[in-house]
Amino acid sequence: MGPMQMSTSPESSGGGELRKTGIAACQGIAIGRAYIVDRRQLKVPKRHIDKDEVEGEIERFTRAIEASGRQLEKIKQKIEEREKDHYAIITAHQLILRDDHVIGAATQHIREEFINAEWALRRSVEQIKSVFDAVEDDYFRERRSDVDFVGERVLRNLLGRDSRVTPPPDAIVIAHDLSPADTAVLYRAAVAGIATDVGGKTSHTAIIARGYSTPAVVGTEDLTNHVGRDDLVIVDGTEGVVIINPDPETVTQYRERGRLEIAAGIARLSRSAEPAVTRDGVQVELLANLDHLNEASVAVSYGADGVGLCRTEYHFMASEELPSEQDHFAYATDVMKAMGSRPVTFRTLDLGADKISEQHMEPHDEANPALGLRSLRLCLTDSMRPVFRSQLRGLLRASAHGQMRLMFPMISGLEELRAAKDFLADVQGELRSEGVAFDEDLPVGIMIEMPSAALVADHLAKYVDFFSIGTNDLIQYTIAVDRMNELVSYLYAPLHPALLRLIQSVVVAAKDRGIPVSICGEMAGDPLVAPVLLGLGLRTLSMHAVAMPDVKDAICCARVEDVEALAKQVLQLESATEVRQAAVAFTNERKLARERKQ
Ligand code: PEP
Ligand code: MG
Repeated sequence: MGPMQMSTSPESSGGGELRKTGIAACQGIAIGRAYIVDRRQLKVPKRHIDKDEVEGEIERFTRAIEASGRQLEKIKQKIEEREKDHYAIITAHQLILRDDHVIGAATQHIREEFINAEWALRRSVEQIKSVFDAVEDDYFRERRSDVDFVGERVLRNLLGRDSRVTPPPDAIVIAHDLSPADTAVLYRAAVAGIATDVGGKTSHTAIIARGYSTPAVVGTEDLTNHVGRDDLVIVDGTEGVVIINPDPETVTQYRERGRLEIAAGIARLSRSAEPAVTRDGVQVELLANLDHLNEASVAVSYGADGVGLCRTEYHFMASEELPSEQDHFAYATDVMKAMGSRPVTFRTLDLGADKISEQHMEPHDEANPALGLRSLRLCLTDSMRPVFRSQLRGLLRASAHGQMRLMFPMISGLEELRAAKDFLADVQGELRSEGVAFDEDLPVGIMIEMPSAALVADHLAKYVDFFSIGTNDLIQYTIAVDRMNELVSYLYAPLHPALLRLIQSVVVAAKDRGIPVSICGEMAGDPLVAPVLLGLGLRTLSMHAVAMPDVKDAICCARVEDVEALAKQVLQLESATEVRQAAVAFTNERKLARERKQ
């Protein structure tokens, strides 16, 4: 049993299928054997050892220290001289690796207390941290997290695992939770499906699963208590159901459903070259959201007019070493090349909250990570500025080679916008003085994903070239509902009247100022919602490519006059439920009208 496999025996084994419902995160049916991943916390195995095991344990510990040292050295080589702060941090980590208080003490614990290396390491880390805690000095308090960081790295090496999971192809991955980085790794491992205890429809794990078209169900609450290793599992990502140890008839039924869904998907794909035009001839621009270079070719095959949101953090999180300026440049030019001459909007790093890059970021404990040091705020901290600078340099250099647009995430208001633009101007100045080419007319826009930004959109519009409404976060912050928390997912309502009012005011602010506005949250890919968005004045929708055919369908059977009437109607309604009912009625009516015509 590998280190990731849980050893507890499942309640469900021993006959009879068990169904668990959750949130449909990515459509499709997958049938396969369970591979269980426990990603909650690195657990420290504690074991007393015999006297004759001591030398072997110390040798194992020494090898883990050496491996950690090599990893840090590699990271350092990647960091350019210019990134002095980060360079200094890694050097400090290397020093901790040689520090007698941490390393020497751990060896002593093994030798004198006869405990295994992991336990000994944890003891020495806790001891040194408590010494730092007692010192009334900010500098020493900060060193506490450095010790943690190094301790974690050595522990991973001791446990013989990095932060990766390695399921066999065609497995169904069952986990309490997965990081977005894990999900990307799973795609490469060619897993068949994913099911997790936690998560919501717009959690980043769900978004990545959709990007990779991996059938997924999230938010099942306690699935991991019911599944054992190698159990047969069906993931129905269309309906949000997971079936454990299904009966043979159920398997047959689902195989058939899977075949039908694939056939329907192929039929949808065949219409991808058709434009998205309303019945009265108004063209709607459909753009793709990309999380990874691989998805660019999918976007092209689904007929995307360009990329409305190219997230850059997964590329960052997926690499073992800190991406260099050249890596950012190469990523951006590769994406633009894959998209042909279509425009591509790159969003600057949006790390933090659930998008943690353990190997590249200082861990920071926060009570409310979604409200904490994430995204642009994180990029503008002293320790992350060098990383942000190298991303901006890479992107700017790439802007000379394609149709790029640049976008800042998580702007709360004018101060943050100014800080971001000042930093960008500084990087541009640096490139100019070095004689490095970049697009001097590069459009620079922002995401509107906080109520504060939506409410002052009229002011912000004066200083940017475009808006993109990020409703995944806008919903989270407006309704105060954690997008990753399945316990409150029933409150996560894209059609909440408050949301509609905010979207409308952003669209009006953009139009008044004459700047383009699009929407790139997941709701843009919901065919039921599309008529409401068109009615609110949006003409550019950005979504995961697979959603495009259905959204196109919804657009092609509507008229602008009708969607405007719908928007007017729903803006008067009092609850999300009423708005949804009105949207469903509208869609059903259009479909009926089309069928009558055919
Ligand atoms: C959003 O918040 O709507 C968005 C598109 O950004 P992300 O999902 O990456 O937070
Ligand atoms: Mg967001």
